[in-house]
Amino acid sequence: MVYPPATPARRCRSLSVVVPCYNEEANLEELHRRLSATLPEVADSWQIVLVNDGSADRTEEIALGLARRDPFVQFLSLSRNFGKEAAMLAGLEHARGDAVVIMDGDLQHPVEMIPALVSRHLDGFDQVIARRDRKDDPKLRTALSRAFYRVFNTLIDVPLNDGSGDFRLLSRRAVDALIAMRETNRFSKGLFSWIGFPSAMIEYENVQRDAGQSSWTMHKLFEYALDGILSFNTKPLRVAIWIGLWMVGLMLAYVVWLIIGVAVFGVQAPGYVTTIAALVALSGMQLIVLGVIGEYVGRIYSEVKRRPAYLLRIDSAQDLPPASGVP
Ligand code: UDP
Ligand code: MG
Repeated sequence: MVYPPATPARRCRSLSVVVPCYNEEANLEELHRRLSATLPEVADSWQIVLVNDGSADRTEEIALGLARRDPFVQFLSLSRNFGKEAAMLAGLEHARGDAVVIMDGDLQHPVEMIPALVSRHLDGFDQVIARRDRKDDPKLRTALSRAFYRVFNTLIDVPLNDGSGDFRLLSRRAVDALIAMRETNRFSKGLFSWIGFPSAMIEYENVQRDAGQSSWTMHKLFEYALDGILSFNTKPLRVAIWIGLWMVGLMLAYVVWLIIGVAVFGVQAPGYVTTIAALVALSGMQLIVLGVIGEYVGRIYSEVKRRPAYLLRIDSAQDLPPASGVP
């Protein structure tokens, strides 16, 4: 695999790497090994923030072991599974570096890209996005994904790029901007785009997952898409209004046509067909519009409660629990 040349490595002053981890027991040691080999080349000081998002496997035990062994590792454990968005926020809030890299814990985001990210950052970019190509992805999935982004971009105000996930480097001011957004329903892809600042993009070759399982199902993806659309603007409400107007217009035209038929041509109009058609169309419409409004009300409800996005159970910087078996 070829990565953009990064020799001689350009260095930044301090770099934090934030890794949300959910059931990544099989990957953490390897990730830590690779990071420890790469980071000294690109930063004068660095910090690896491992965030355990309520894993059910040995992720916590392994990450705690790393934090004990390596003073550059900070380990955070959330009180339960809050989802990747919350885990990332927790990591960002505890990252102290001038630049922060966010990457997955499943080795799908190549550590070897970090020197290239840092180098672009030093060229003056606040966000350097590592974008994967879709070479080995199933064709159907790629097509669906492209279609998804096309529809998505017409629905929301901030443009999103296909293939650019959460793997990226952020400058300190970009991180501060992200943390300042206190919404509970976080949709990072949108937030990253919303904050603006100069950004650059670097492509890398897609890596298939080595160990463990992707936690994304079709159902989860659909929910994620809905979250994205609804948390970014109120366009769906406007769409509902337009559909309503069109329906009313069509109905009026139909009624006029019927009246002309009866008055001019003497046609007998079978009334019940019209009635049923109108009833079905209108009640369907009302359900859709109610559903859309309901979604927004639900979101307002969850935002006004002002609950924290996550709760911390362990922060290794505050209190490193004793290793089991040690008195
Ligand atoms: N992740 C998390 N909380 C979750 C689900 C996932 O912190 O509830 C982490 C996971 O450990 C990984 C990253 O988010 O580091 C991406 O997850 P995954 O590989 O399942 O997603 P995909 O790569 O398929 O988009
Ligand atoms: Mg993955």
